[in-house]
Amino acid sequence: MLAEKIEGMKDELVAAIRESLKIPSVGGDPAEGAPYGEGPRKALDWTLDFAARMGFRTKNVDNVAGWAEMGSGDEMVAVLGHLDVVPEGKGWTADPWGGELKDGMIYGRGVLDNKGPVMVALFAAKALFDAGLKLKRRVRVIFGTNEERGSKCMKRYVELGEDLPVAGFTPDADYPIINAEKGIITYTVSMPFAPSGDMKITSLEGGMAANVVMAEVTAVIEDPRPECRARVMAAAKAWKGPEGSSLEAAEDGHKVTLLMKGRPAHGSTPEKGVNAFACLADFMKEVRLKGEQGDFFNAFNEAVAFETDGKSLGASMKDEISGPLTACVGVVKAEGGRASFTVNLRYPVTAAEEAVTGPMEATFSRLGMKVESASKSRPLYMPPESRLVQALRKVYAEETGQEAMLLAIGGGTYAKTMPNVVAFGPVFPGQDYTIHEEDERWSVEDIMKNARIMAKALLELAEEE
Ligand SMILES: [Zn+2]
Repeated sequence: MLAEKIEGMKDELVAAIRESLKIPSVGGDPAEGAPYGEGPRKALDWTLDFAARMGFRTKNVDNVAGWAEMGSGDEMVAVLGHLDVVPEGKGWTADPWGGELKDGMIYGRGVLDNKGPVMVALFAAKALFDAGLKLKRRVRVIFGTNEERGSKCMKRYVELGEDLPVAGFTPDADYPIINAEKGIITYTVSMPFAPSGDMKITSLEGGMAANVVMAEVTAVIEDPRPECRARVMAAAKAWKGPEGSSLEAAEDGHKVTLLMKGRPAHGSTPEKGVNAFACLADFMKEVRLKGEQGDFFNAFNEAVAFETDGKSLGASMKDEISGPLTACVGVVKAEGGRASFTVNLRYPVTAAEEAVTGPMEATFSRLGMKVESASKSRPLYMPPESRLVQALRKVYAEETGQEAMLLAIGGGTYAKTMPNVVAFGPVFPGQDYTIHEEDERWSVEDIMKNARIMAKALLELAEEE
């Protein structure tokens, strides 16, 4: 009965997804009533309207999020998704904002990440009620508009005291089930960096973001003494770094410009990259800078150097469920007489935040490093024996014929924004849909498979009376 209801909605669901893709809901500058830009607000209004026409009770939550709900009961179960998207970028073979359907595949920015899954959730929820099922709990689809730029939407939802689910999932990552997401802390630390003596660094800048292993850093060394510049040039020529690194040095007047290159990697897997700043700090041992500038590189070499496991920072740890703590140095810069760098840590799900911050901050302080800022998100862990994980496992196995393996990741998903939620779908193992890249697409076949899984999962969580 439920499966038939879902099959009967196919054309309508496909049309709705295609339509939703025509709103370019890229985050932008705040405007009146649109804290995250006009695009996300437009997508929010459109989705709320659409859900209301489907028969849902709806609410606009402070212009940053919305929900659509059916059923009754004290408790509520939820699907959590987002309507904002990343910019379309280049290289598309289809119109990123056209909602094109070609060879059984819908193309468009956001079709998977994440407007398509939001629409699938609405249809899956509706199918339950159309099928006449009587459920113990309310079913709510919650949609935010700031996932791609910090998930402040869901923070606001929670702050405003909107109802929280007793169980739920977010189809904004991968199947089968991500039940463990490491805790994340990003520190920015600084040290005095005033020049002293004839040799000084007048510019130091590298990295793209705190959560990407620094791939490139530039340092400009100034020295009026030709023999000292020659010594730096010779050292640069002789320096041998780890595989994947390279150093270029160019002399111009009193300046030697150093360009150190490494290899980028995602902040959750820093061991896969080669950190350009660790390379530069290693090279600086040859340069023998004096005073504060020399101290800065020495302190970095003592605390971090090439390590990606936080060992010398005093925070090395691991657990069975989610593996080791990782540390990624992402950005470095010098300004106003100080130099700073970022370190992005992902710690195991069973560790307490204080077990990381305590020893780390002691190390920073021992080495004369000042913590400028620390942004933190606690780990997420939903035990295998929890009702939520068991319910999703059962549904996944029934619908796909595959065992639902539990995944632990170093990244953070939308699930972290609310209690009792895990990431579940929409991408099946082995698929290479190009999220955040050109030609983002989703096959109608997988859309329908997702609709069946979501409907059954909601049924399982909301329980029949
Ligand atoms: Zn997403």
